[in-house]
Amino acid sequence: MSEASISQKIPTEVIGLCDRLREKGKRGWIVGGCVRDMLSGRVVSDWDIATDALPQEVQKIFSKVIPTGIAHGTVTVLHHGKRYEVTTLRGETTYSDGRHPDAVHFVGDITADLARRDFTFNAIAIDPVSGLIIDPFEGRKDLEKKILRAVGNAEERFSEDGLRVLRAARFAATLEADLDPDTEKAISRTLDTFKKVSAERVRDEWVKTMKAKRPSRAFEIMRTSGILAITCPELLEGVGMEQNKHHAYDVWTHGMECMNACAGDPILRIAALLHDVGKPRTRAVSEKTKDYTFYDHDQVGAEIAHPIAARLKFSNDERARIVDLVRHHLFHYTDEWNDATVRRWMKRVGVDRIQDLYLLNEADVRSKGLEGPPDLNPLEKLKAHVAKVEEQGAALSTRDLAIDGRDLMTELGLKPGPILGKILNALLEDVIADPAKNERESLVARARELAEETRAEPATEAQKKKG
Ligand code: ATP
Ligand code: MG
Repeated sequence: MSEASISQKIPTEVIGLCDRLREKGKRGWIVGGCVRDMLSGRVVSDWDIATDALPQEVQKIFSKVIPTGIAHGTVTVLHHGKRYEVTTLRGETTYSDGRHPDAVHFVGDITADLARRDFTFNAIAIDPVSGLIIDPFEGRKDLEKKILRAVGNAEERFSEDGLRVLRAARFAATLEADLDPDTEKAISRTLDTFKKVSAERVRDEWVKTMKAKRPSRAFEIMRTSGILAITCPELLEGVGMEQNKHHAYDVWTHGMECMNACAGDPILRIAALLHDVGKPRTRAVSEKTKDYTFYDHDQVGAEIAHPIAARLKFSNDERARIVDLVRHHLFHYTDEWNDATVRRWMKRVGVDRIQDLYLLNEADVRSKGLEGPPDLNPLEKLKAHVAKVEEQGAALSTRDLAIDGRDLMTELGLKPGPILGKILNALLEDVIADPAKNERESLVARARELAEETRAEPATEAQKKKG
């Protein structure tokens, strides 16, 4: 990309912002991720600006300034309706805890600011007014050759800040870059620093990694360097674990390919990564076929995925989604499924999870590594059958029943409590088997029977204990 064509890609407001700094005797450069993404032809979402003006000076130069991170030299400037992070040039510093710089010190030199950045392609600055590119570590060359290289001594840089090794894995995937050999070697030598990185930051990097076309590139680096043994050792159990005739890949590679093939948002792709995490612990040999079986790997997998998602501090909703998808990822639609079978499946997996399961199943089918086209027929048939059942509008949740908890209390004199939910659920089972039963009078009658059966239960339990 020539310097002239680079300047054309910078929005006029950004040039205007830097021009204003210049009028006041200061300078502004675009730096970091926006330069990297612009030079590699990607869409730039945030234009970050570095300046030799102090935060207080920036506050005076612009009328609308929010002191977002003033202690670190960052303010947010509102300029022509957009927000820009404007950060005062900073110099090298010490990191005694492996996470945060001990103190921030401002410098007047853009090159010193670039020297403290992590990778060469993240250490390029452009003066939008003159179009001049400042690239002291030859980041453009590395970007062209798709090489990820630490600025300066990789081992030293990774020992300062443990997050950088994970950023390295992430950028290798998102930019489809190869690690420079010294940078790669430094990862496994600095894992003690990496161990200090918080789970939230690991989670954020996983999520950002999922925006890559093939996130497996990052996960392979995490595996071989030792990062994954710290953050998710459960996944390593699948490495080299041979499967059966339905799969050409080991469990690990299938997980990688399934994640790559999964056309979903980051959380869904994380579920794809983990979907077979239960296989290593459930593998057995069939007496009959002498081939491997993985009975209940979906249930066991859900039990393993839960603490992983909790450990990585996913929100409750995200964790529930990941665990549900692992638990329900296995289904084999056949022509024997009737409407009731489909309704039962929909109720079991949860209506809200169905679209996710379609995408996950398609990825699963596409990533077995077998010769010939993947057989997506069963999935297509299931989709069509679900659509038909949805059209019929039959009840799939207790909310769709012709009676509710209040009816049970008024009609049967029941008190609020778990019994109401139990009865409604049993009624739903009946209605799912036969939608014609979703009719008030017969539901009340059936509920009465169920209530009596339940009332009888504790006595039987007590008798059992006596006997
Ligand atoms: P993204 O925004 O996609 O996460 P990014 O590279 O823009 O990627 P930011 O966290 O926005 O990442 O950081 C902006 C810039 O700050 C980076 O490009 C890099 O120059 C520098 N930087 C960020 N994190 C670090 C770090 N841990 N060590 C050194 N420099 C860093
Ligand atoms: Mg950024």
